[in-house]
Amino acid sequence: MIVMKFGGTSVESRDAITRVTSIVKKYEERRPIVVVSAMGKTTNKLLAAAHEAAAGRRDQALTIVDELRGSHLTHGLALAGPAAADLDRFIRTHFEWLDELVKGLSVVGELSDRSKDAIASVGERLSSLVVSFAFRAAGMPTQHVDARRVILTDDRFTQAQVLFDETYAALQERVRPVAEHSVVVMGGFIGSTKDGITTTLGRGGSDYSAAIVGAGVNAEEIQIWTDVDGMLTADPRIMPGGHRVKSISFAEAAEMAFFGAKVLHPATVLPAVEKNIPVLILNSKRPEVDGTRITLDAAPCANPVKSISCKRDITIVNIRSTRMLMAHGFLRRIFEIFDRYETSVDMLSTSEVSVSLTLDNTENLNSIREEVRQFAEVTVEEKQAIVCLVGENIRHTPGIAGRAFQVLADKNIRMISQGASLLNLGFVIADKDLSSAVSALHKEFFSTLDPAVFA
Ligand code: ASP
Ligand code: MG
Repeated sequence: MIVMKFGGTSVESRDAITRVTSIVKKYEERRPIVVVSAMGKTTNKLLAAAHEAAAGRRDQALTIVDELRGSHLTHGLALAGPAAADLDRFIRTHFEWLDELVKGLSVVGELSDRSKDAIASVGERLSSLVVSFAFRAAGMPTQHVDARRVILTDDRFTQAQVLFDETYAALQERVRPVAEHSVVVMGGFIGSTKDGITTTLGRGGSDYSAAIVGAGVNAEEIQIWTDVDGMLTADPRIMPGGHRVKSISFAEAAEMAFFGAKVLHPATVLPAVEKNIPVLILNSKRPEVDGTRITLDAAPCANPVKSISCKRDITIVNIRSTRMLMAHGFLRRIFEIFDRYETSVDMLSTSEVSVSLTLDNTENLNSIREEVRQFAEVTVEEKQAIVCLVGENIRHTPGIAGRAFQVLADKNIRMISQGASLLNLGFVIADKDLSSAVSALHKEFFSTLDPAVFA
């Protein structure tokens, strides 16, 4: 049994869903459970309609709902074959309910998180129905499961926390047996409280749903189908021509995501990885490519570095204590200020009297600076970038830092950090030096490739 998750772009249109159908067909023997996001940008549009309604702009809200009704009918009915009349009825029923809800919100003039979830959930409720009709029309025995009956959560609407024991029990009871003989299709992102009130797991939550479903049914594998070939040795926006990394550990993937590889946030697949279920990143536009396999432990690799990840548009804040004596409590005071302004710090280096740290969100920097100035000098450097070498073997291989510094000898390195896990080595350099630095590092660490790990 496997879980196959398709994101919004993979199910955005009739053509996209046709592609998904043929991919799933190839895996039919492996008993797939298919988890889908809402079609295209549906979730954004639903929430926009909710906000318009609550702001009293009833007509604008209803116009958005109408557009969504139109696009779901157009793409959906074209896929449903002889069952089109049934799907038509389902879609219209959902939209009639949505019309009523939107009208109600415009009368009440306010939007609770609970109502937001009720509205946002319609995207996945509909996309999963459309996809299940498409599968059936293509000759696959298919069963639609309402995800809200099996993903059980608390009532923190818009950020609901999964009740794992109840959810896993429901998945064992209601999904696993069905998946033995039919392709199960369900929506990601949505769940419900034990009282049956609709919740959502937070924006982008479908990957998380897929991991939960996989963990709950003890799947052999979880496939996350996106629009990239997988994780690469270098960020393609900065250096095209990197190599695909065929396998990577969960810890390595986490470091890469943190520093910019936007493929998948590894924390979302933790429930699966903890149960030792491999997670694959695959490209629905190029299904023949093997993608990237994320597992708890890294496969042996002859290259010490697996990937160079980067983060652009970073600001360095240098803080120097003006009171040399009684310096204890210095870091605590600094971090309390960052905490109060909800500003997270990416990289940090300290000496006896000074601290440098990097931020990517500078919204509150002026206020932070004012407060820190009361006990320290502050300088700020903008237009910086973080470059990070990631690989489990970095800790076992002497001389990696030396090789990296040699390569960057003509560049001004502003900060250096080696993560506690010792599987990353990061530098801060000027953003204008980023692309030449990445190319040079790539040449140094990837001129020979372990064919077992790199494509
Ligand atoms: N449709 C939801 C969102 O846009 C969940 C997802 O796509 O993962 O946030
Ligand atoms: Mg999405």
